[in-house]
Amino acid sequence: GTYERIQTNEKRHDELQEMAITFNEMMDLLEENYRKQESFVQNASHELKTPLTVVESYANLLKRHGKERPDLFDESVEAIHEEAIRMKELTQQLLTLARRGEVWDVQPEELDVGPFIQEAADSFAKAYKRPVHVQLIEPFSIETDPAKLRQLLYIFLDNARKYSEKDLRIEVQHPHIRVVDRGIGIPDEDIAKVFDRFYRVDKARSRKTGGFGLGLSLAKELAEAIHAEVRIESEEGTGTTAILTLSEFSFSPAILKEKGEDS
Ligand code: ADP
Repeated sequence: GTYERIQTNEKRHDELQEMAITFNEMMDLLEENYRKQESFVQNASHELKTPLTVVESYANLLKRHGKERPDLFDESVEAIHEEAIRMKELTQQLLTLARRGEVWDVQPEELDVGPFIQEAADSFAKAYKRPVHVQLIEPFSIETDPAKLRQLLYIFLDNARKYSEKDLRIEVQHPHIRVVDRGIGIPDEDIAKVFDRFYRVDKARSRKTGGFGLGLSLAKELAEAIHAEVRIESEEGTGTTAILTLSEFSFSPAILKEKGEDS
């Protein structure tokens, strides 16, 4: 949509003029948000449409030839099942994104990062039967939201697992946490874009591994919520490192008050 803008006059420097400028800036923001939302809905619908089309055509096949062709029957049921799982995964991720308010509900506590990472790595390794080596180069404690930190770690580990066959490694070195893989890597021209929603380097490949291009966009938001930074370093064919840099920044005015920093 396009909204009206208020005419501004550079020669005037009064309150009305300032309000007009602020109003126009707000309109810019609104329009940008609207466009983002629109493309989000388009992308999401497209992602759902692809598996639905597969389900529909296999269901049609079954309806017509299912009874006399047992080979076709097995193949169709298999494909329908696979696509159903995919759609379920996507709707789960979309729901997570829809509950974005939760991302900004930050509950910080003092956290000993070394043992925390070790524990998260162990449970991930167990769940996916992939060894994850934790290297405590320079362990540290920090005030942060453990649930969010764990979510971030899982997003990085999940990518490392999907795009690499070899063992995974996490390095803890104040104030960074690095998730290192020796997998297929990311081409230079794509690195900046992997944080965009629905962005995948290789669409065909990603379909097999089951990604929707949503993980890293969520990671970026989670990181922002805990005042951390995320960065990806990668070399095609060599591997990828996801780097989370935590900061000492305190989280809420209440906490600042406790520490007496606002007096
Ligand atoms: P997805 O669910 O598709 O993995 P992400 O947002 O997590 O979505 O990542 C976006 C894209 O970035 C992926 O589709 C993949 O192409 C690329 N990518 C992310 N992490 C890695 C990695 N560790 N190694 C290689 N490619 C990666």
